[in-house]
Amino acid sequence: MSERAGYRGRFAPSPTGALHAGSLVAALASWLDARAHGGVWLVRIEDLDPPRELAGASRQIVDALAACGLAGDESPLYQSRRSDSYRQALEQLQAAGLIYGCACSRADIALAQRAAGLPPHVYPGTCRHGTGGRPVRALRVRVPGETVGFHDRACGWYAHNLAREVGDFVVRRADGLWAYQLAVVVDDAEQRITDVVRGADLLENTPRQVWLQRLLGVPTPRYLHVPLVTNGRGEKLSKQTGAPALDTERPLAELERAWQHLGFPALGAPRIDAFLRRATELWRERWASA
Ligand code: GLU
Repeated sequence: MSERAGYRGRFAPSPTGALHAGSLVAALASWLDARAHGGVWLVRIEDLDPPRELAGASRQIVDALAACGLAGDESPLYQSRRSDSYRQALEQLQAAGLIYGCACSRADIALAQRAAGLPPHVYPGTCRHGTGGRPVRALRVRVPGETVGFHDRACGWYAHNLAREVGDFVVRRADGLWAYQLAVVVDDAEQRITDVVRGADLLENTPRQVWLQRLLGVPTPRYLHVPLVTNGRGEKLSKQTGAPALDTERPLAELERAWQHLGFPALGAPRIDAFLRRATELWRERWASA
């Protein structure tokens, strides 16, 4: 039986550009998984980063989803309006002594990494015991030297030794904006998301999110990371790599393309509703028990 009581899924685009073929894959997969489980599907606009936002993109994304028959079951949640919740979570972490101020610039970090022979993504822990009087820029959360992982429905067990492979990570950025890692964990918890279905580029973020969930005492959802769409140069489709907007005049063709990218044969459905019905059945057969 594939119905899962209380299933709540979400699609969480950042409005840095129009919906494109890559983001449609994540949207379609999360929608199908929610429907295949008889669950609720939500849209959350991750507009945390005004400098990177493109005017009108939130509206464009919601409209393009609707053109493809993918409408959220509740009105979209906007992260730009959620600062109070992020601040509360930060205060909870601060009260537990898990947060410290970091004075390092990117250049400081690069220098310390080279000196310590660390790979470019690992924070070397420079400010762990104080900034030595330098002004605080960002806030970081302490991570343990232990393996933190989760079971992904597609990829299986996925884990990081957080201290060795990530380092203490930023929860409030030097520009004062909330970091994605904190916001996504707070919102998934507050929206009672049971199942996260999203692109595989976010797989490597998930151990950090699982760690924050543990610190904040909120449940860890189930995760399914689906294959990324790449361009001819093997880069993830995104605004930065020049992904064209979805052709909302041809939503059925766009859905078929996203569907085949998810590993299924073409459906050749005559209309969107028939496409979505059939795709939900096939998705249920493939993924309901995984
Ligand atoms: N806003 C993120 C993005 O567009 C996705 C976040 C998520 O699904 O957790 O890449």
